[in-house]
Amino acid sequence: DSLGPTVCVGEILVEIMATTAGDGFLEPLDLIGPFPSGAPAIFIDQCARMGGSAAMIGAVGADDFGRVNTARLARDGADISGIAVDPDYPTGSAFVRYRLDGSRDFVFNIARSAAARFGWTPKVQALIERSGHLHVMGSALAMPSAWSVIEKAAGIIKGRGGSVSLDPNLRKELRYDAETEDRFARLVAMSDLLLPSGPELERAAGVEGEAAAIARLLGMGVSEIVMKRGAKGATCFLVDGTRTDAPAFVVDEVDPTGAGDCFGGAYVACRRLGMGPVEALTYASAAGARNVTVRGPMEGAGTRAELDAFIANTPRRI
Ligand code: ATP
Ligand code: MG
Repeated sequence: DSLGPTVCVGEILVEIMATTAGDGFLEPLDLIGPFPSGAPAIFIDQCARMGGSAAMIGAVGADDFGRVNTARLARDGADISGIAVDPDYPTGSAFVRYRLDGSRDFVFNIARSAAARFGWTPKVQALIERSGHLHVMGSALAMPSAWSVIEKAAGIIKGRGGSVSLDPNLRKELRYDAETEDRFARLVAMSDLLLPSGPELERAAGVEGEAAAIARLLGMGVSEIVMKRGAKGATCFLVDGTRTDAPAFVVDEVDPTGAGDCFGGAYVACRRLGMGPVEALTYASAAGARNVTVRGPMEGAGTRAELDAFIANTPRRI
C-alpha cells in the first residue's frame, strides 16, 4: 500500500429488492432496502473492510440514497473525497427481484442519475495523484463519464509506478459498440491483474479455450489472472506458470449479488498489503462466499477478523 490507496471509479447505487422470488414488479410487492450498492462501490467497501487503503470515485445525489452509500463507505474506512454530490440528479438505483430459477429482473435508474454524472475535478485529481492502484469494473466502460476518468487515472497511476486491475464484468445481455470494445482491449493491455468469470476470460484474451486465453494474456503483460467460478471456487494463474486452485467454501447462498466484487476487493487488498497470491486467494474466496450468505449486495462484506473466523469455521469443497 505504500504508493497510496487502491481507487475504484464507477457507479454508486442503492439496491431495493423484493422479499419474494417471482416475475418482475407488475403488482405491489414487499420490498427491502435501500442497500448500498454498485459493483465498484461493493469492491471498494470490501477492500476497505479487509484493511486495505481504499478510495472511491463517483457521484451520488443530494438525498438519503446518496447518504446511505457515503455513510457506509466512510464507516468502513474508505476515502470518500472523490465522491461528488450532484445537486440536480438523484442517486442511482436498482430494483431487483429474483426469479424462481435464480435469474433476476431489474428496474435500473443509472444512466440518467447522479451515478453516471461525474468527471475529473480538483478533488479527483488530488486523489489520483496519491493513489497506487486503480481497479476497473468492465461495467463502467460503457459510461462516458467513467471512461474519461478511468483513462486519465490509469495513465497517472501507472506513470508513478502503480498498478491496474480489471474485472471484465461486461454484461452478457448487452452488446457493446466498437468504441467500448476498443476501450476494453486497451485496458486489458495495461492491466497487471485480471479477475474474470465465465466467458469474460476468452473475451478479454480474444481467443477460445481457457488454456489458450491464459497463455495469451500472460504473454502480453498481464502478470496475474484469477478466474472466478462461483460455487466451484477460483483459480489463480501467474506469469511464472504457477497455477493454484482454491476450492469454494461450503455455504448456503442467500443472495449471490456482490460475490465477485467482494472477492476482487479482498484479493486486491491482500496483495497490496503484501500477501502472496495463495493467501490472497483464500481471503478472496472467503469474502465472496461470506457475502452470498447475507441479503444485500455488500451486507456480507467481512473485516479481516470476520474473514479469519469464517475461514476457521467453514468447510471447503474438496
Ligand atoms: P458477480 O458478478 O455475480 O458478483 P462473479 O461471476 O464475478 O459474480 P463469482 O464467481 O460468482 O463471481 O463469485 C466470486 C467468488 O466468490 C467465487 O470464485 C467463489 O470463491 C465465491 N463464491 C461465489 N458464490 C459462492 C457460493 N455459492 N459458494 C461458495 N463460494 C462462492
Ligand atoms: Mg463478475
